[in-house]
Parts: sequence; structure tokens; C-alpha cells
Amino acid sequence: MEERVKCPICGTDNRNEPALSYSREPWEIKECKACGMVYLENPPASEALEDELAWEKTFANESKERRKRSPLLYMAGRAPKAAVQRVTKRNKLLDFVTKNIKPGPILDIGCAGGHTLASLPETYIPFGIEISHELSQVAASAFGPRGGAVIQADALAGLAQMPRNEFNGIIMTSFLEHDTKAKETLLAVRRVMREDARLIVKVPNYASWNRRVRGSRWCGFRFPDHVNYFTPDTLTQMLSKAGLGIVRFGILDRLPTSDTMWLIARKAH
Ligand SMILES: [Zn+2]
Repeated sequence: MEERVKCPICGTDNRNEPALSYSREPWEIKECKACGMVYLENPPASEALEDELAWEKTFANESKERRKRSPLLYMAGRAPKAAVQRVTKRNKLLDFVTKNIKPGPILDIGCAGGHTLASLPETYIPFGIEISHELSQVAASAFGPRGGAVIQADALAGLAQMPRNEFNGIIMTSFLEHDTKAKETLLAVRRVMREDARLIVKVPNYASWNRRVRGSRWCGFRFPDHVNYFTPDTLTQMLSKAGLGIVRFGILDRLPTSDTMWLIARKAH
């Protein structure tokens, strides 16, 4: 039996709504008739996602596919910019962290090999949650000497092992779009945040012009491992449902000319 999920924000059943044209057999993308959330209605079971459909592998396959379909666009869109983007992206995150998060314990959800937090100033104590055994060990060897640690688990199981009100900052970059339990994860994130903590989120922007222009060839579509396709509006709704309020989400953080958007949130009271 195939599992159909309800809207991850408002719980509306959209089974009788038509799938969006971006859907790719057998995966169906729906737009919630009640709140406008765009999501994958029939995501694979999470065990499958962890193993053979691990997103790194899917990403490699998607890139290859895209290169095959439109080599010139692929070259123009990716190759010359890639190196520059890698550097500026990381700088943007480090800049966001040092300007918005107080020194002390900081948690990266889906920390991979720990490269992001490892380059933070020594005043931050890096912690991580990572599902991959291999990557979690790499991250642990980077965080351990700095007083931090890594839990090898999925986000919900990892967060449940963390003490309440523990962290000055939480990082979720390129994570929420993969999470079939995004609201539950955000509620669990809220629990481990100190009162004045900040949460930094980065996700693909479904409202980007590039998605409208390139249609199903937009780089944000990854089947089946992207399950949430947020717009600025639905991302805000999702956070609000989890008791989180927006600190920063200006026009420069969600430009329609960019494929991604950045947001800083805090506990709402
Ligand atoms: Zn909805």
C-alpha cells in the first residue's frame, strides 16, 4: 500500500487534488488547497531515504541527468559559478552565525562531516546530529576536541536525546526540504533552544523566478528526497505552527532571483 501524507503544515487531505505538472512518475507533488504548501504526497518510507535514496547520491544522479538533458544550460548555470558559490555560501552562514548567535553551544542538524561548524571561532562549541554513520564519525572527530559531540540518529531521535534549553543557536541548512516531519522537528528544535537562542534556516525557494522559467528542470526539484517545497509564505506558516517567530527574513534573504532563501527565527511567546 502506498502511503499518502497530508499537508505538513495544516493537515489538510489533498488526495483528491490534481498533482502539479512538476510531478515525476511515480512521485506526486501537491499544492495544499487550504494553506498553499507544496509537498510530495507519496514520499518513500524514511528507511529508504536513509539508504539507497540518500540525498547525496540522488543529487549526483540528478546533476548527471540535467547535464545530459541540457548541457549548455547546465554549464552556464553551474560550472563557472560553483567554486565562487561554495565560498560565498559558507561565508554567508558564518556571517549569520557570528552576528546573530551568542558564543557557546551550537547545534547543526544534518551536520554531515561537520565542515560548517568546524570553521567557527573557538568561542562556539559545535554539536551535531547526523544520520550517516560515516559522516557522523568524521564530524565527531572535528567537534570532540572543541568540547562538542555528534549524535548519530535522525533529527527527531537525536533532538529527543538533547537537554531542554541547551543551545544558543541551531543551524538547519539544506535540511527542512528533506524532512517529512518538518513541523515535529521544528517543535523539537524549539525545545532545545535557550530563551534568546536563534535558529538559522536555509531552504530552496519554490517562489524563485528560476523555478517559473525552468519549470520541472529547476534545480530545486529532487525526486523523491525533496519532500517540502517552501515559499516565503509557507516557510513562515510552518515556523509559526511550531511556536517560532521571525527575527530576520528581509527581501535580500528571499530574493526571487535566488534559488534559496535564508531565515532567522527565535522562540515565539
Ligand atoms: Zn495545508
